Amino acid sequence: MTTILVTGGTGFIGSHTTVALQQAGYHVLILDNLSNSSVQVLDAIATITGTRPEFIQGDIRDAALLDSLFAAQPVSAVLHFAGLKAVGESVAMPLAYYDNNVHGSVQLLQAMQRAQVRTLVFSSSATVYGDPQALPLTEDHPRSATNPYGHTKLVVEDILENLHASEAGWRIARLRYFNPVGAHPSGLIGEAPQGVPNNLMPYVAQVATGQRERVQVFGNDYNTPDGTGVRDYIHVTDLADGHVHALQYCLQARQDLLTVNLGTGVGYSVLDMIRAFEQASGKTIAYDIVGRRTGDIAACWADTELAYEKLGWRARKTIQDMCDDAWRWESK
Ligand code: NAD
Ligand code: UDP
Repeated sequence: MTTILVTGGTGFIGSHTTVALQQAGYHVLILDNLSNSSVQVLDAIATITGTRPEFIQGDIRDAALLDSLFAAQPVSAVLHFAGLKAVGESVAMPLAYYDNNVHGSVQLLQAMQRAQVRTLVFSSSATVYGDPQALPLTEDHPRSATNPYGHTKLVVEDILENLHASEAGWRIARLRYFNPVGAHPSGLIGEAPQGVPNNLMPYVAQVATGQRERVQVFGNDYNTPDGTGVRDYIHVTDLADGHVHALQYCLQARQDLLTVNLGTGVGYSVLDMIRAFEQASGKTIAYDIVGRRTGDIAACWADTELAYEKLGWRARKTIQDMCDDAWRWESK
């Protein structure tokens, strides 16, 4: 069996991708320091797929651990999810973000180089497009960042480009995710943010369960159909499936640096998402319109043609699927 190392594999996107990898016949080895996830996820994955992924609790910045991990068994490729992801926290703690996301990625790449494992799928983000100059966003849109988190994604994208140019044999996919939401349809794994959720959909879900009172809608004076922010929400299992396609693409290539959007190509507003969640949950979601959140853009959605052309992959699930599955997970 082909072994895939999944860093951050007990996290939100990593856990769903582990399920998809196992179902596609891969042997998954997860490395995660559990800073933002729990080992219980491994049991849930085992219930879904019938196989418990191999797990090492540890940090991507631990070079000795990485060397022993690569020495212990042949690893064909690395899917690299591990990192910190909260924009506001990155403004308050920039050094932690550069250390985890940039230094951590460099440590991982150096260990891969020592072990001669040169196949990598990296979690980038639509945040690298900054404020869109045109929609839909194509992969050649200029990149920029307005916060430390976004900068870490830009820097790692550049490191990967430099590395690919410096040494033959690297097969790298840089995947730019739009807004991943939803949960596995089993309701056994999903998004479990610690503390007050920063993102819209986990917040809406917690209002539906009664854990929080009202959603604050950040602005209704944007140049969008209903004035609220518009985003390209993608079901996390579609995203996971996109990773399996990207991995298979890389494993078949001799050498490549692929950069693609993973989105649906369709934008929905904050109010669209609240209404879809009301339908899924049968609950009324109370909300207040408040001022804009600093740094937010009006609207953003992906051009999905390159992902289809290169990977033969498209997102399939609707916002109602996303809300139904998120509700099943949240109400458990
Ligand atoms: P998550 O926090 O649920 O998962 C990340 C996992 O990495 C966690 O399990 C955490 O414990 C682990 N981790 C963090 N630092 C580590 C380290 N130094 N060593 C080992 N493990 C470490 O986040 P997620 O939503 O699954 O995101 C995964 C990746 O996708 C991240 O790189 C994130 O920046 C990127 N991304 C996420 C989104 C989103 O909206 N969720 C959007 C675009 C890009
Ligand atoms: N949003 C909101 N209330 C919240 C969280 C988010 O109105 O409590 C809005 C936000 O302004 C944006 C959309 O919901 O228009 C998606 O925000 P999220 O933080 O989930 O994703 P991102 O801003 O990273 O695209």
